[in-house]
Amino acid sequence: MPGLPERIAIFDTTLRDGEQSPGCSMNLQEKVSMAAQLERLGVDVIEAGFPIASDGDFAAVQAVARECRTVAVAGLCRTAEVDVARAAEALRDAAHPRIHTFVATSDIHLEHKLRKSRSEVLQMTREAVRLARNFADEVEFSAEDATRSDVDYLCDVLAMAMDEGASILNIPDTVGYTMPGEFSRLVQTVRQRVVGDRAVTISVHCHNDLGMAVANTLAAIDAGARQVECTMNGIGERAGNASLEEIAMAMQVRADQFPFATGLNTRELYPSSQLLSSIVGFDVQPNKAIVGRNAFAHEAGIHQHGVLNNPLCYEIMTPESVGVPANSLVLGKHSGRHALAMRYAELGYSLAPTEIDSTYTSFTELADRKKRIYDQDLIALLTARSKTNEALPIDVAAEIDVAAETARWAIGSVGA
Ligand SMILES: [Zn+2]
Repeated sequence: MPGLPERIAIFDTTLRDGEQSPGCSMNLQEKVSMAAQLERLGVDVIEAGFPIASDGDFAAVQAVARECRTVAVAGLCRTAEVDVARAAEALRDAAHPRIHTFVATSDIHLEHKLRKSRSEVLQMTREAVRLARNFADEVEFSAEDATRSDVDYLCDVLAMAMDEGASILNIPDTVGYTMPGEFSRLVQTVRQRVVGDRAVTISVHCHNDLGMAVANTLAAIDAGARQVECTMNGIGERAGNASLEEIAMAMQVRADQFPFATGLNTRELYPSSQLLSSIVGFDVQPNKAIVGRNAFAHEAGIHQHGVLNNPLCYEIMTPESVGVPANSLVLGKHSGRHALAMRYAELGYSLAPTEIDSTYTSFTELADRKKRIYDQDLIALLTARSKTNEALPIDVAAEIDVAAETARWAIGSVGA
């Protein structure tokens, strides 16, 4: 069918790799509600846990498998027989079960962690994938630490997994070591030497130890990967995984570079991020791309001036496109100091009464002149005030029918 863009499958591992990171553990109910939100977001696969790891993980995978009916649900397992069987058992009630088995392929892992030879690991791969295929039609195989593995050996192991029936071959940058150009060449090598024209999906799983996880993931898509593994808010082991929201918006904003389709509804990104933050108990950093508190705040007066005239001056995407709620009429010229203080508190700023007084003065000046007061305007007011005493270079009053706006503000006012 010409004209239909190729699909990139989004494999979310917030509930497995993400949950493994310090301070991010989730109970069963939290995992189930996060999974339901991820399903609304439109991911293709939810990796719900590592069933052999604990009874809690087993129960969580089982519960997610029972609840989520449209997405594939994956359970992770090592290549040991008991691991594979446990994952299969946890996934028994899934509408679309996927067994995800993995073994390390780098010499450093073989020698110091597994204490196995290359031929033994090749054999373990064969047996685990064969067993997994007895339990599930869809089997994914991961070569842990692929980016530090000997390329010839990596290709041998992936070919073995494919020959035994794994239909998704995952290339993890387990330690966040690779760089975009190098990773792109590795994906191309696997595509040419292992996959060829078979109906097998190449997947990537990138960690962020050098801050390259999203860049490496995008380079891999360019080189032929058609599944990407990622997490909301980029949580995960150590510095985390590739962040789902950044991959999603990079592909959407730069569709000219990435002419692919996903099943994502990007307006669910911000709600998903907020839900995860509330579950794990901490927020993303304020300058976090896409979902951070300041991601759409325009601090510099000159930027604010440009955005007021036309958001395209400094915005490559709208807050609405990622689901950031617009609070345009919550605050207006009739709002009082209390409402202003409350809104700042919601945005994470606790202001002393004297600060509220001085900010309130600039707020009313702005409200007299500006059509709508957004959260980023309030943040900009604080920033402008703390930098210098210079007036904000905003002068759009002439463009606004003040009388009409006053009437709307009065309706939208939340009182003092
Ligand atoms: Zn990982």
